[in-house]
Amino acid sequence: MEVKKVLSDLKRRFPNEPEYHQAVEEVLMTIEEEYNKHPEFDKYNLIERLCIPDRVFTFRVTWVDDKGQVQTNMGYRIQHNNAIGPYKGGIRFHSSVNLSILKFLAFEQTFKNSLTTLPMGGGKGGSDFSPRGKSDMEVMRFCQAFVTELWRHIGPQTDVPAGDIGVGGREVGYMYGMYKKMALENTGTFTGKGIEFGGSLVRPEATGYGNVYFLLEMLKTKGIDIKDKVVAVSGSGNVAQYTVKKLISLGAKVITMSDSNGYIYDPDGIDEEKLAFIFNLKNVQRGRIREYAEKYGCKYVEGARPWNEKCDIAMPSATQNEIDGDDARALLANGCFAVSEGANMPSTPDAIAEFLNAKILYAPGKAANAGGVSVSGLEMTQNSIKLSWSREEVDAKLQSIMKDIHSQCTLYGKQEDGYINYVKGANVAGFMKVAKAMMAQGIL
Ligand code: NDP
Repeated sequence: MEVKKVLSDLKRRFPNEPEYHQAVEEVLMTIEEEYNKHPEFDKYNLIERLCIPDRVFTFRVTWVDDKGQVQTNMGYRIQHNNAIGPYKGGIRFHSSVNLSILKFLAFEQTFKNSLTTLPMGGGKGGSDFSPRGKSDMEVMRFCQAFVTELWRHIGPQTDVPAGDIGVGGREVGYMYGMYKKMALENTGTFTGKGIEFGGSLVRPEATGYGNVYFLLEMLKTKGIDIKDKVVAVSGSGNVAQYTVKKLISLGAKVITMSDSNGYIYDPDGIDEEKLAFIFNLKNVQRGRIREYAEKYGCKYVEGARPWNEKCDIAMPSATQNEIDGDDARALLANGCFAVSEGANMPSTPDAIAEFLNAKILYAPGKAANAGGVSVSGLEMTQNSIKLSWSREEVDAKLQSIMKDIHSQCTLYGKQEDGYINYVKGANVAGFMKVAKAMMAQGIL
């Protein structure tokens, strides 16, 4: 494989998809050496078959708003690769959603799911619909309209969606309800469901908790204790909330959170009570992070990201490309020694290069945030066996999976000087399993 050629071909065939190109380039650059040790991979043109999704569904979603006006949005589902199990990946509702973003997410998901040790392929879907500012009824009507198209492409053994940005328990509930009505089956096609109808304990917490568990594994390699470490977190949605919750319980000091309008800086640290305010603000009131600063009298910076604040550890948990080269340099200059990604691809290639050159502990999202999809996999298992596991059982399994992912990264990412390149480790480990499965199944 010649990475430059593969990339230029993909760019020619799929122009105007910068996020997809970025994700593919990052993976190909790091797996090239391992890939080229296996001439049989090239003979079977594994790389193109792995980069190009198996199929992409695009559809119009029509719904009626509270004023009686007819609205249209675009809906998508990318079924990227099912070599190791049913397509699996979240649904994103955000005004920025387009094919490029979903293709990058589905591509990443394929490697992430491979790392989880569970039998799940990679997929992703979504819409340019934004739930922000919409009433419950509008969100419900939109979800129902979205699923009347999506339902025929998904199923418990084919493709199992879940949540992502803009899609939490409320949206999954509405989508699952409509799916059940259309498909006339009740086997759990969707994860992140409510606990009363097949959801798993610890699924809401899983991505954030899992990221902290992965961070602990990284810190362990350096003999560093999390207690009293100062942590900058971005985002204030599902992943950020549970990241902060776990960090507080371990005695770390979280000084920032954000939303798409700006960030708050609380030098005293966000404690349990302040975090409860955020849970209510974001999940019930659906308000803005600025209101935290108004309530607790701390700094709020409009239109900025938190990476200029001094911290030991950064945990980006909002969206893609939220740490650029300048942000990375600011973090490093302020002494940050670990970055563990809750979001998908939050660091730009420039930022990643800075972290790797500085040889700090740096965990890419596909390893560090894999706890979410892992517990989704556990939810699928519980649905299949028609049993529910206790909180302790699920949490123990999550911890063990995150440890396993860390070991896989170390296996493929440890350099001669002892530095663990988690980017390379995660990409190669994730890739090898999918590649072997694809080889065994013939040219499809
Ligand atoms: P939520 O919708 O619950 O929260 C997203 C948060 O990020 C909100 O605070 C939102 O602010 C902020 N945000 C979204 N878009 C932007 C933007 N363009 N610029 C700045 N801030 C933004 O989503 P999740 O917490 O579920 O997802 C966060 C990240 O984690 C995503 O990258 C997602 O792909 C990833 N992830 C999520 C998993 C899960 O289980 N949920 C699993 C693995 C990864 P606002 O409210 O203003 O929009």
